[in-house]
Order: sequence, then C-alpha cells, then structure tokens
Amino acid sequence: MRLSNYFLPVSKEAPADASIVSHQLMLRTGMIRQNGAGIYSWLPLGLRVLKRIEQIVREEMDRSGAIEMLMPTLQQADLWRESGRYEAYGKEMLRIKDRHDREMLYGPTNEELITDVFRAYVKSYKQLPLNLYHQQWKFRDEVRPRFGVMRGREFLMKDAYSFDLTEEGARAAYRKMFCAYLNAFDRMGLTAIPMRADTGPIGGDLSHEFIILADTGESAVFCDRELLALGAPGLDLDFNSDLVPVVEQRTRYYAATEEMHDAAAFDALPDERRVSARGIEVGHIFYFGTKYSAPMNAVVQGPDGQMVPVQMGSYGIGVSRLVGGIIEASHDENGIIWPDAVAPFPVGIINMRAGDAACEEACVSLYTQFAKAGIEALYDDTDDRAGAKFARMDLIGLPWQIVVGPKGLEKGVVELKRRKTGEKIEVSAEEAVRRITG
Ligand code: ATP
Ligand code: MG
Repeated sequence: MRLSNYFLPVSKEAPADASIVSHQLMLRTGMIRQNGAGIYSWLPLGLRVLKRIEQIVREEMDRSGAIEMLMPTLQQADLWRESGRYEAYGKEMLRIKDRHDREMLYGPTNEELITDVFRAYVKSYKQLPLNLYHQQWKFRDEVRPRFGVMRGREFLMKDAYSFDLTEEGARAAYRKMFCAYLNAFDRMGLTAIPMRADTGPIGGDLSHEFIILADTGESAVFCDRELLALGAPGLDLDFNSDLVPVVEQRTRYYAATEEMHDAAAFDALPDERRVSARGIEVGHIFYFGTKYSAPMNAVVQGPDGQMVPVQMGSYGIGVSRLVGGIIEASHDENGIIWPDAVAPFPVGIINMRAGDAACEEACVSLYTQFAKAGIEALYDDTDDRAGAKFARMDLIGLPWQIVVGPKGLEKGVVELKRRKTGEKIEVSAEEAVRRITG
C-alpha cells in the first residue's frame, strides 16, 4: 500500500477525553473514529488489526474442534422470554420494535439463539459433542462506556457454545476452550492469566476469566508469579488427549480478581511470588449446565433412550477489546509497538527522497519482493519531512521499518529498524527482505 493512496488520518494531539494510552493512540493513529458514546467506526488501519486478531481466534477455535457459523445481531424478544432473561437482563439490553410492533433486541450475547438453533436439529447424543462459535457484533448499553474500544457499547465478540450429553463431557469441552484461549492470547503476544471467576447461582468451579496485566486495567488482580512463567500449552497440543493435567498445572496457583480475592491465601505466598496488579478481562469461559437447555427444552436422547436436557457452556473473547488491550501491553513514548502476529502491516518502507528516481526504484523493488513473499508493506512515498515520516512510522508501530535514502543507496545499503528494540542496522536491500520474510 502506498501511503499517498491510503487513508491514514494521523493526528498530533489526542482528544482530551481519551484518558488511557490505548484510546489516545487508536485515535491519533486513525484506527477508529467515535460515532456516538461507545460506538466506533473502524478505519482502515484499525480494521486490519481487528481482522488479524479475529483470524488468530478463528484458527485456535478451529484447532480445538469448534465450528464457525454466524448468527444475526438482531434477535426476537420471545426467545429471551423462554429463558426468562428478557425481563431479567435490564437496561444493558437495547430493545427495538419492528414495523409490525414485534419486540426485538440487539443481541448482547447468544445463549438463547444458539439453543434455538441446536434444538431444531440435534436430537441424539450421537450428534454430540458439538461446539459452535461465531464472531459477531454485540450491543450492551453500558452505564459507563469508556476507554475507547475497551468498554464500548457496540463491540465484537467471539462467542462459542458447547453441547454435551453429560457433565463430564461438558468439563472436557471446557478444558479444550481453556487451552485454546491460552494459545490464542499467546499468539497475540499476550500473557493471559486464567483466574477463577464467580459462577453465580449455578456454583461449581467451572468459570475462568482470562486477564492481561496493564496499569489501566479496570480490576485489581492478584496472582502467583510462577503461574505467569508457565506460558501457553502450545500449538502442538493434541486436543483429543487428556487435558486434565494441562489445565490443573495452570489452575493450582493462586490467581484471583478483586471479587474472588482471598487475602489470607495470597499473603501466605512468599513475598517474591506475590503479584498484585491491575488487569483487563479479555475472555471468559463458563460452564452452566442446563440453565438454558432445561427451560428452552433443548433435549437429546441418551444411549438409554431417555431424553435429557443438554449440558452447555459458553466461551467469550473480547475481540475488539483486545485491540486496545494489546496496545496497553505494548507501546512506548513514541507510539504503538505491534506484536508481529497482529501488526496491520509487517513492515513500513520510508522513502527519504520522494521524487528521486533511484530511491523510488529501490523502494518499489523492496515492495515487490515483499509482495512476492506474501507480505503487504506500507510504503511511505509522501514528500513529508523526514522527521515527520519517522515519527509517524514509530507512532503506528509497524514491527519493521526500512529507510531508503540516496546516501545509503550509493553504498548499496538501506537502514533496517526493529520498532520494538529501536535497533538500527545498515544492510543490503536483499538482506533486509530476508530478515523480515525469513
Ligand atoms: P465485563 O465484566 O468487562 O463487563 P462481562 O463479564 O460482561 O465483561 P462477558 O459477558 O463474559 O463479559 O463477555 C465476554 C467478553 O467480551 C469479555 O471477557 C470482554 O473481553 C468482552 N466484553 C464484554 N463487555 C464488553 C464491552 N462493553 N466492550 C468491549 N468488550 C467487552
Ligand atoms: Mg459486562
């Protein structure tokens, strides 16, 4: 992409009402545009990142055996009356009437809708286990939408729903999601910590929030440093194997949000292992048994011929929140530092002398070599001042920068810069391409 042809409305100042760094940087880099309280347009640069996160989530869900589909944003109120949640959900639900005066709503979540799909087709345990997911916009009329996309009213969520005959089956489905989540966040360059969450009236031990650490996080969190060091199970994990040990290894350490905090247990840890920080919730997994299947009559025939309500769990990831979360976790005073896996463009090419034939030719040659390797570069071909170009490239945070100038070309070199470390080296154009594509 040539910058002169692109739509990248970068600005120097962040609006005064953007209080946290990710919100400021997303506005300054022209990733998003606010269109209403908690409602945003995703501008081209922002959309690229959103799509990359979506794709990682998709790949890790698919790897775990879940199956993608797409449900609508608008739902019938009557479905929610069946589960009893239409009245219970309260003011966070955006309620709408169509021209026939039928009550509808903009989905804040999809348990009812997926249960309705399920009961229409699945009648026997032989069709189980099943895990269906989608990535779709949700609307929740949050009391305090804030921090940009971190707490929006309209936001993109990945939500998966598992169906099993037995509680043990549902627990196995839960463990798959637990592992898939850790792998997905890890691929995004994040350390996400699973923390026991409140299961509400259902009880049990099967609810975890996945939290990333950031000073601007909305909740206080407490955990054992040894858990942080454990890392994700890894992409070679066999999802059909017994995942009990993998999950147990990661749930035996102390890790809790404010609501679940047990000060006595935490204080019993040695000093150097106590991590007390703030965190952002990027995912939440939940086993809830027959909470929806029983009232909505989603029943399946077991091997003994009996009809029983199906065992369910639901699993959410805040896809749009993650864009802000990643920036909170990865930036410096000059701007964003995208982890390679989610960067909007892997590399930016800066032409130091736009209009100069040799510089233009060298930049186009680099651009073409990247294109051949399946990489789209962002080529700054504008005639802005060099300082302005450097600052803008740092601000938007592409992992690699290549600076092409007449002096270097005389020596047969370009400057290759790694955004994360600031390290700059002079190499041949071929070597620069090799390092980035290799
Ligand atoms: P929170 O406590 O932050 O309000 P929640 O418990 O209401 O979250 P879930 O219903 O579990 O959230 O939704 C799944 C995921 O969707 C959350 O883990 C979070 O990452 C994301 N999410 C929830 N609400 C919002 C929002 N208003 N804006 C952006 N992302 C959100
Ligand atoms: Mg909420």
